Amino acid sequence: MKTREFWFIVGSQFLYGPEVLEIVDARAQEMAAALTRVLPYPVIYKVTAKTNQEITDIVKAANYDDACCGIITWCHTFSPSKMWINGLAALQKPYCHLATQYNVEIPNDAIDMDFMNLNQAAHGDREHGFIAARLRIPRKVIAGHWQDAKVHKRLGDWMKAAVGVAVSKEMKVMRFGDNMREVAVTEGDKVEVQAKLGWQVNTWAVGDLVKEMNAVTEDEIDAQMETYLTAYDVATGDVAAIRYQAREEIAIKKMMDREGCRAFTNTFQDLYGMEQLPGLASQHLMSLGYGYGGEGDWKVSAMTAIMKAMGEGGNGASAFMEDYTYHLVEGQEYSLGAHMLEVCPSLAAEKPRIETHHLGIGMNEKDPARLVFEGKAGKAIVASLIDMGGRLRLIVQDIEAVKPIMPMPNLPVARVMWRAMPDLTTGVECWITAGGAHHTVLSYDVSAEQMRDWARMMEIEFVHITKDTTPEKLEEALFLKDLAWKLK
Ligand code: MN
Repeated sequence: MKTREFWFIVGSQFLYGPEVLEIVDARAQEMAAALTRVLPYPVIYKVTAKTNQEITDIVKAANYDDACCGIITWCHTFSPSKMWINGLAALQKPYCHLATQYNVEIPNDAIDMDFMNLNQAAHGDREHGFIAARLRIPRKVIAGHWQDAKVHKRLGDWMKAAVGVAVSKEMKVMRFGDNMREVAVTEGDKVEVQAKLGWQVNTWAVGDLVKEMNAVTEDEIDAQMETYLTAYDVATGDVAAIRYQAREEIAIKKMMDREGCRAFTNTFQDLYGMEQLPGLASQHLMSLGYGYGGEGDWKVSAMTAIMKAMGEGGNGASAFMEDYTYHLVEGQEYSLGAHMLEVCPSLAAEKPRIETHHLGIGMNEKDPARLVFEGKAGKAIVASLIDMGGRLRLIVQDIEAVKPIMPMPNLPVARVMWRAMPDLTTGVECWITAGGAHHTVLSYDVSAEQMRDWARMMEIEFVHITKDTTPEKLEEALFLKDLAWKLK
C-alpha cells in the first residue's frame, strides 16, 4: 500500500502579533490530529502561512510529494489573498477549502475585540474563496464545524475522490488484444486520456500471456485453488476448468504486477491459444482491486480500478457492469445487469458459487468456470466515461439496486437488478441522450458527489442523472456544455 496523506495549510498574516499566531498554530495542530483520528487518511498540519513565499514553497513541496494527495486550506484569521496567487497558480494537487472555525458557539460574555481578531474565519474564508474563484481553480468547498460528523463524512468522501485522482495518474492498463471489432463506445483517444487523466494504456500479446500460463506450476495452481475454495462454493464437478481459470489468473496477475498495471482488458475475439475466456480468473482479480473491461474496453477497466480504490478500505464494492435486458411490466420496471462472465464478487449478496457452463460467444474450446451470484440491494450509481472527440464526458446515474424479483435459475452468470433514476424509461432516455455506454462501473460505495469531485479535479465534463432529471432539462444542459467545452 502506498502512503496517502493530505496537507493542512492555514492562512494568516503578521498583523495580529505573535501571540495570536501561536494560538492559531496550536489549534491547527490540534485540529489536524483530531481529523486524522476520524478521517480515512492522515491530515498533516504543515504551516500557518503569512507570506507569498511560504505559500508558494508549501505548494511546490505538495506538488512533488507523491504521498500528498491534496491540500486542505482554512483561514483562522484574515489572510489577504494576493499572497496566495503565486502558490495557487502553481498548484497541481487536489484542493479542498474547509470553511470552518475553531469554536462552535459565539461566547456571549467573553466576546470582545481580541476574540474577533483571533476568530474571523467568516470573513477570512470569503477572501480566500474569492481568489480561487478569480483564478478559476477547481476546488471543493466544505463548510461546517471541524468536529461535526457531517463534515467528517464529506471531507472523508472528498479525500477518497482525491485518492482516485492519484490512482488515475498512476494508472497503467494492460490490453490483451484490441477492442471488439466494430464497437464504437469502447474506443477512445489513448493520447488524450494519458494527457488528461494520466493513464498509460498499452497492449501485450495474447501469445505472451499463453506462454506465461504454460509456465505456471501445479503447486501455484494448488495454492490458488485453496483461495477459491475458501471464498466460494463449488457447484461443478469440472475441477479441470477451475484449475484452468487459476492458471489464467496467476499468469495475468504476474504480467500485470511485473509491469505495474492495475487494470486489464481482453476480448472473446482474441483468445488464441487459450481454452477458456477468463471468467472466475477475471472475477477474482477484480475482487483484489484490479480493474477489468470486457471486449477490450480499457476505459471502463481503468474506471473500475479507480472507483474500487475510492471505495471503503481502498477496495470497495465497485464493478464492471453491463446493461443487458429490461423488465418492463408496469410498476415493476427494472434493468438486469450482468456480463457474459465477469461480474466482480464485491457486489454479491451471498457466497458466490463456482459453476461451469457452455459459452457460445467467442472461441472457447472448453466451458469456462465463473462465479454466479445475485447482487446486493441498496442505493448505488452507474458511471460511464465516453470519448466525445476532443474531450471526455463522465456520465453518472443514480440507481436503486433490488434483490432480483425472480430467481432466473437458467441464467448462468452473476446478475444485478436495479431501478434507474428518475424511473426506468426516463432514465434510459436520459442515458441514451447523453451517450452513455452499455458498459459501466456499478458502485455501492462511491457516491455521485465523489464522482463529481473526481471529474472536477480531472477537469473533464460531468453529467449526473438523478431523480429530478428530465429529458428536456438534460438536453438543454448538454447543448450548453457542448458549447462551453468547445470554447475551453
Ligand atoms: Mn460487454
